[in-house]
Amino acid sequence: MSPQPSISKKQIHKWKVQTMLTTGFASELKVGRIFLLPDCLGLGEDARWRWKWIPISMLLGIKGGTSTGLYPYVRLKSLTPAFGKLALQPIMEISAIPVIGICKKFSVGPNMFAIRASLKAGTEGVPWTLQLTWKSSERDMLQTKVASYMTVLEYLQRCALSRTCKAVFRAAVKMPFLHSHRPVCGDTSSGSVHITQYLGLRASRDKPLPTIAYLKASERFGQSKTITICPGHFIDPGNESGAPGEREFNLEIVNVLEKDLSANGWRVLRPDRDAPNLSWEEYLNWVSKQTCSGHPVVEIHGQGSSAMDSKGSVVGVIGDPYIMLNRELARNIGFLNIDWKELGVPRRGGVIVESFNADEILQMAPSQRVQAARYIGGQLMDSIQRISSKTDAKKIGD
Ligand SMILES: [Zn+2]
Repeated sequence: MSPQPSISKKQIHKWKVQTMLTTGFASELKVGRIFLLPDCLGLGEDARWRWKWIPISMLLGIKGGTSTGLYPYVRLKSLTPAFGKLALQPIMEISAIPVIGICKKFSVGPNMFAIRASLKAGTEGVPWTLQLTWKSSERDMLQTKVASYMTVLEYLQRCALSRTCKAVFRAAVKMPFLHSHRPVCGDTSSGSVHITQYLGLRASRDKPLPTIAYLKASERFGQSKTITICPGHFIDPGNESGAPGEREFNLEIVNVLEKDLSANGWRVLRPDRDAPNLSWEEYLNWVSKQTCSGHPVVEIHGQGSSAMDSKGSVVGVIGDPYIMLNRELARNIGFLNIDWKELGVPRRGGVIVESFNADEILQMAPSQRVQAARYIGGQLMDSIQRISSKTDAKKIGD
């Protein structure tokens, strides 16, 4: 099922309990309370926090293992990348061994990469580490760590045990680095499992306005030239990662569409990229504000053949059929026979477009995939341009 289901109103994310068990029977425990600093200023128009260093997540707790004992632990992490175009994310740990680090995340096609550089104070052996992470999917990650005199290759697999609990399995091999004659300390190969449980309350979602309020505001959709295009399953996906291959292709379409829209003078908001740490509740509250200000919010999805609606369609629009944009989007693919009022985004004046059959995309060669993304992006572009010109004409007519 592609659209986000309604989840219980208040959940998770204030307390974090992590345990790690390794093949050498060493174990580590981390218990902490997460604070978002300061949490009071709210989101800006583009879903970013109003001050660019906000939110800073601060974790206060204890950390330790069988070899080190327990000690107090503080980690400060800017959740919004800073330093202009470099978009670096500073991270600082204050504990028995203070660490400062900086991280840069970027994507190449559907692949996500992260480069991290960190410096540990007061350790003789490994004062610095450079780490490259390649994430081919939400589950699999390959990591290379280069430290002062050794390289560690790691394979990680994530698995969500529940909406609030995740496990990461890790296999690692250590190798000496650059003809170093220093022996590698510890075991040369190891494995571990890392379990994280989130506890506590989460931001609450505001009650949606009456449907008529969103419908009225949608009359201004074409005028503002500001639009949100969000690939499905990127904001706070939890266990909802969509049909196989869907998430990646949602992103490919959105990237094509964003380029087209920008070239045609639209300001495109991308909360998936610019505010990736939003909780689902924060996102829904923000969607409601956007659509009420006359800025459309379009979420791109796809689904597998098994997700057919009662009329046998896989593709189609989910949203208020009285909103002009939704009718334009549905011109070629129709509306899906699903109650749009049951879903968070359409209920708040946004629209979900189930734009492709994910099973078909999985069968495609890379060049066909690129073509398909261009074709779908082009169709969506035409629909958006049509409402823009219609409201423009209306304005002149008035
Ligand atoms: Zn979906």
